[in-house]
Amino acid sequence: MSKNEALFLRAQKTTPGGVNSPVRAFRQVGGVPRFVKRAQGAYFWDADDKKYIDCIGSWGPMIVGHAHPAVVKAVQDAAVNSFSYGAPTEGEIVMAERICQLVPSIEQVRLVSSGTEATMSALRLARGFTGRDLIIKFEGCYHGHADSLLVKAGSGMLTFADSTQNAPSSGGVPQDLVKHTLVLPYNDVEALELAFKQNAGKIAALIVEPIAGNMNLIQPSATFVKAMRDLTTKEGAVLIYDEVMTGFRVALGGAQSLHGVQPDLTCLGKVMGGGMPMAAFGGRSDIMNKLAPIGNVYQAGTLSGNPLAVAAGLANLDIITQPGFYECLGTQTKKFVNGLAERAKQAGVTFSVDSVGGMFGLYFSEKIPTSYADVTASDIEAFKKFFHLMLDNGVYLAPSAYEAGFISIAHDDAVLAEMFSAAEKSFAALAR
Ligand code: PMP
Repeated sequence: MSKNEALFLRAQKTTPGGVNSPVRAFRQVGGVPRFVKRAQGAYFWDADDKKYIDCIGSWGPMIVGHAHPAVVKAVQDAAVNSFSYGAPTEGEIVMAERICQLVPSIEQVRLVSSGTEATMSALRLARGFTGRDLIIKFEGCYHGHADSLLVKAGSGMLTFADSTQNAPSSGGVPQDLVKHTLVLPYNDVEALELAFKQNAGKIAALIVEPIAGNMNLIQPSATFVKAMRDLTTKEGAVLIYDEVMTGFRVALGGAQSLHGVQPDLTCLGKVMGGGMPMAAFGGRSDIMNKLAPIGNVYQAGTLSGNPLAVAAGLANLDIITQPGFYECLGTQTKKFVNGLAERAKQAGVTFSVDSVGGMFGLYFSEKIPTSYADVTASDIEAFKKFFHLMLDNGVYLAPSAYEAGFISIAHDDAVLAEMFSAAEKSFAALAR
């Protein structure tokens, strides 16, 4: 028995399903999850000492590669001063200042410890600010696991829930709560216009992944982006860009900088913490001023603004703000997906690709999908086989056809060459 197998069996005795977050369990693709021992740059090593090229980067955060020496040093330096105080620090001010400077729609920001906390708090704030209950979200978008957002949710929920029901995607979520969530198809301007018309004066917020990454990578059309901003402004609803995944990932200023849109609130996470548990929500100061301790919308956290997370996040920001960082990241990611598409074509496999900045999508379909319905119609069986072929050849892709992938600045040409060689063998085997 391999060490990974032994660890998986052992883990299942004390942890439900053997993992602390569902997609890690390989439920869609089958097989034994890899237990990671250590990681460096673009690589990680599993319990059996097999080396993999990492194409998920902790689901986004590891944009500068694993264990970057400057980030490691920042954390070590911070650790000697203890790990948490429950009182404010100057580092938190610096973090807030940097976020406001890099994402200009954010005038004020609150630090939290996970993306789920960021979106959940942003929603409560939007409801408190508008005095309304209804929220709009889109099919296949995942915004963390807060109750009112687990309706037709993406990510692991696409694998684990019966997503044909317009009901909670999770057990334990009251139908009563979900009735305040309107779920619309992504990229459907007509449906959006109709929803605002039918619920005039009742919508507190529209929350969206401005470039979706939890139903594989799906880009919005320009008309959809414009309609979301125009309709929320007209109706006095709060436009929430959930940039937990896209923030500092698709561009330094996030998806909003690519769209030329100023959302009212933005949620951040992943890259901003450089792999440490840190996230944030922020935006217009008139809305943010409704938050406790100055406003009546409550939100708090024992570990919020944690000094080690702030140290890692700031060191990470220093690297990604270097000139040319995103040009290089975008080029490597494009080279990677185009290289894969070429090899699929050579092997005669139906396959398409897309990427934005350091985020990519691989689809076993003729065309790049534009909705949740498109994604679920792609060839999931082909994906599963390809995933395992790539894994055997030393490339760790997201273990689900419904997730985007992530490239880091450590994925240089030598790493790409290794991935292409793995892809060539994998596509050839898939075609046989
Ligand atoms: N929003 C988006 C867009 C996400 O991708 C995620 C996590 N993948 C979350 C929210 C939730 O973040 P967390 O897992 O840190 O709670």
